[in-house]
Amino acid sequence: MQSLRAALTGVLTALAIVLGATSPHAEGRLNVVASFSILADFVKNVGGDRVNVTSLVGPNGDVHVYTPAPRDAKTIADARLVIINGLGLEGWLPRLLQSSGSKAVVVTASNGVDPLKLGSETDPHAWQSVANAEIYVRNIRDALVEADGAGADYFGRNAERYLAELDALDREVRGDVDEIPLERRKVISTHGAFGYFAKAYGITFIAPSGVSTETEASARDVAAIIAQVKKDKIPAVFLESITDDRLMRRIAEETRARVGGTLFSDSLTDEKGPSPTYIALVRHNIKALTGALGR
Ligand code: ZN
Repeated sequence: MQSLRAALTGVLTALAIVLGATSPHAEGRLNVVASFSILADFVKNVGGDRVNVTSLVGPNGDVHVYTPAPRDAKTIADARLVIINGLGLEGWLPRLLQSSGSKAVVVTASNGVDPLKLGSETDPHAWQSVANAEIYVRNIRDALVEADGAGADYFGRNAERYLAELDALDREVRGDVDEIPLERRKVISTHGAFGYFAKAYGITFIAPSGVSTETEASARDVAAIIAQVKKDKIPAVFLESITDDRLMRRIAEETRARVGGTLFSDSLTDEKGPSPTYIALVRHNIKALTGALGR
């Protein structure tokens, strides 16, 4: 019995080694690392099964204040492409790249977008405009073609299909905003992540804290916001998945604004959450906005 079990274990181990070595999944695919989950989703849509995508900052993570884990250096060292947002979002990345000794090509997905300012800093959240997301996708497609020329047609077709979906999404958001009465198109949200969305779709966002989740609103900021919500009759305040919601709840309590729900700004959720893809994220947000602002 013992020897039979030992023999069986041996066979299974040998089988696992053979399968591992010849697995079509790992072999021949382009290793791509994305700095955060939204970029990884873009890469998946264009790269399909010719790429292995790893996101450094996983679902529900905060890309502003990420602390790289030891395994990230290995992940980056094995990558052919590293896709980043740029616009100052990934302050932690240059050191990681250097320490990993990676020879990966670093691709700035936001290249070509029209950057906005938030205070004195560049606002990094360009993906919140769907038209900008399309620029990201084209940059990612071009980088994949460059790295894997044999996949050029495949990447081109995938990108075309995904860009058509994004076009439809952009029209959908515009149609939904049209339903909101003009004087009600204003909200408060946590960390200033919706500047590009606001500009693209004509909803005013007022954020109590600055560009990054690192900065906290001061007592004076909060008092000013409460006064503004009352004066401008702002209908709703929104929470964000990655930031502390106590401040927003307090503002809602002290004004007549309602808590309109949670907006997803910088991160996808896992498969079980409401926004496991970029398209789901934008849909979730526009539903929350129309739900709170519509009459
Ligand atoms: Zn952010």
